[in-house]
Amino acid sequence: MIKEIYAPIPSRSFSSGLHKGFIKSFLMAAGLFILIQNCISQETRDIKISGSDSLKIEELIGKMSLEEKIGQLTLFASGWDVTGPSMNPDHQQLIREGKVGAILNANTIDYITALQKMAVSESRLKIPLIFGYDVIHGYRTIFPIPLGQAASWDLNAIEKAEQIAAMEASAEGINWTFAPMVDIARDPRWGRVSEGAGEDTWLGSRIATARVRGFQGNGYSDGRHILACAKHFAAYGAPVAGRDYNVVDMSPLSLYEYYLPPYKACIDAGAASVMTSFNEINGTPSTSNHWLLTDLLRKEWGFRGFIVTDYTAINELVAHGVASDLKSAAELAFNAGVDLDMEGSTFLDHLPGLLKEQKVSIDQIDEAVRRILRAKIQLGLFDDPYRFCNRQRARTDIMTRESLDFARKLVSESCVLLKNDNHTLPVSPDVKTLAVIGPLADAGEEMLGNWTALGEWEKCTTLLEGIRNRCGKSVKVVYEKGCNISDKEVSGIEAAVKLAREADYVILALGESEEMSGEAASRSDIDLPGIQNQLADAVIRTGKPVAVVLFNGRPLAISHLNDIAPAILETWFGGTQAGNGITDILFGDVNPSGKITMSFPRNTGQIPVFYNYKNTGRPPRPEEPDEKYVSRYLDCPNSPLYPFGFGLSYTSFRYSGIQAVVAGDSIRISANVSNTGDRDGEETVQLYIQDKVGSITRPVKELKGFKKLMIRKGEMVNVSFTLTAGDLSFYHPDLKKYWEPGEFNAFVGGSSAEVISAPFKL
Ligand code: BGC
Repeated sequence: MIKEIYAPIPSRSFSSGLHKGFIKSFLMAAGLFILIQNCISQETRDIKISGSDSLKIEELIGKMSLEEKIGQLTLFASGWDVTGPSMNPDHQQLIREGKVGAILNANTIDYITALQKMAVSESRLKIPLIFGYDVIHGYRTIFPIPLGQAASWDLNAIEKAEQIAAMEASAEGINWTFAPMVDIARDPRWGRVSEGAGEDTWLGSRIATARVRGFQGNGYSDGRHILACAKHFAAYGAPVAGRDYNVVDMSPLSLYEYYLPPYKACIDAGAASVMTSFNEINGTPSTSNHWLLTDLLRKEWGFRGFIVTDYTAINELVAHGVASDLKSAAELAFNAGVDLDMEGSTFLDHLPGLLKEQKVSIDQIDEAVRRILRAKIQLGLFDDPYRFCNRQRARTDIMTRESLDFARKLVSESCVLLKNDNHTLPVSPDVKTLAVIGPLADAGEEMLGNWTALGEWEKCTTLLEGIRNRCGKSVKVVYEKGCNISDKEVSGIEAAVKLAREADYVILALGESEEMSGEAASRSDIDLPGIQNQLADAVIRTGKPVAVVLFNGRPLAISHLNDIAPAILETWFGGTQAGNGITDILFGDVNPSGKITMSFPRNTGQIPVFYNYKNTGRPPRPEEPDEKYVSRYLDCPNSPLYPFGFGLSYTSFRYSGIQAVVAGDSIRISANVSNTGDRDGEETVQLYIQDKVGSITRPVKELKGFKKLMIRKGEMVNVSFTLTAGDLSFYHPDLKKYWEPGEFNAFVGGSSAEVISAPFKL
């Protein structure tokens, strides 16, 4: 059926000679990589700025003293007082002297206006400040955590969430967000998986693009968009043992293939800034890594925005052990390519001395200043430094009915139905008494998740409130907490069991507290904390229908719960509309369509477990489950509890008729998807490819496409994808990306584990 073809791209004639020499070339490439990493040069890429704006910047730079220039390269954080936001008086003085370029964490129009006034009315050159904030999943209207949003596989919705976040933040003085976080992560012990898009590079790159677009729009002229910041550059999502801030030790090949592409996607989408990560990669901290920041990011990728450090990351170079003191830390970071020092004050304190000693040059300083001023010009701050402090918009554009309705929809789109035996969900209309039990059932303060910007938990709907809103007087809704999230107190279990016995149906809300994920929130055991499994045992033992609703910021290892619970709905931390959006799913008003973007392990010891693993030379054979000398655990299957891409619906889908047809240098893969259940539903149809034989080993499957479709009950649709040879390319030991002709498998299905397949040759 399929014939050999095509359009030669230079490297397709990959010879067996090269094949044999691969180990050698790999080692050479690795050596070169390390060599480049360690080399410190003072070269930086020139940013081209056009027309009158360019002139304005040059004029300004011409007038600036050295201290004023370095001031532009300095960012300080605002603090909090009992009376509200406050700024260290020394830093206020520095603003008045024109020695601060940007502020982090300031909020409220009055306060931001006051700080901006210090800069533009009192400083000599009247250069406005940029105001940055961690707008991670909403500003006042809080959306599901990013990992939850990713589970929607809805790029338009993700972009819209960022648009709304930017619209709200920009009304109240913020013009720069420290997002998107695009760190690929395969280790759910790491608490910051909640802030990213999960384990897949291809999907993560598309989500990265959507998020940058949402924040930045087509520019800032409408005053409703803000600068994005791609973070944390690079590979922050791969700390050894999942412990936050820990070292990253990985091959250059893995770095290129799996970790770098989402940052590159942000750059290609025009992200205005990039944040360096806290970690080291193979011995060099990102913040002092000239290869990473200058050779790769600026020269190879052509990044023209500015590079900010993570919080005090320059100072931390001393603890990393690559700098003996703050002065040499500043030297390393600045020469590596950092433009803006976040909170560390190292540039302010040490660049003058370093310039005197000719360890840095004035051209470098001017270039960094140019990048910051360029962002300020783009934001329109020189025309109107207060344009983002818009009282009128703060009244009309924040937490609008439309935004709240959209947030509710995104909550339900993010929910993933992990298990649903005997159609336990949705809740039957015959239920007269509904028991809502569990430490997360009425926990308003947990609903926002971590990084809540100015979201107010008091404005969130809890699950209990959502259910009560939905049921009105038609169902008797009763509630017991049962236990706390993480302590060992068992005294509440009895009352919970009594309540369950008196009810027709139980909704059991379990999970983590919001502070168990996010920064500095790694866990070494990611099962349910505290005695929640014990509560689940007791409640489920009553024999009542029980649907578990999970709240958490990471994949959990819930094998025990999976064994005992008839139904499990993953809801992450849904934000402002959590309770309403989840209720829409529980009662069947919305059919669940979310699919996880990070594998859920069976137990913590199985981590890292991810779908695009390599086969090894000794893969376990399904027909010989007890075979000893194969790559497996004695006490646990290799497969995860729930695989990447998995999520159930209240209806069912059947896949059939896969075809892979090659034409020219492209391949068209199609399959039929039938809705075989009794209700309409959305399905995310996923396409995976396996390159069967390569000059280097390839993963068993790689996501290459998806389509999210509404399929009516009884309907069958034909879904097709077209790939070109370039889509089959991968990084080689020379760190170049190209494809190799040969045999492939195409897989289409509703998750990475349930697929139908067709071979093809290209
Ligand atoms: C985090 C960043 C964040 C920054 C500013 C750091 O601790 O790692 O993600 O943007 O603080 O709040």
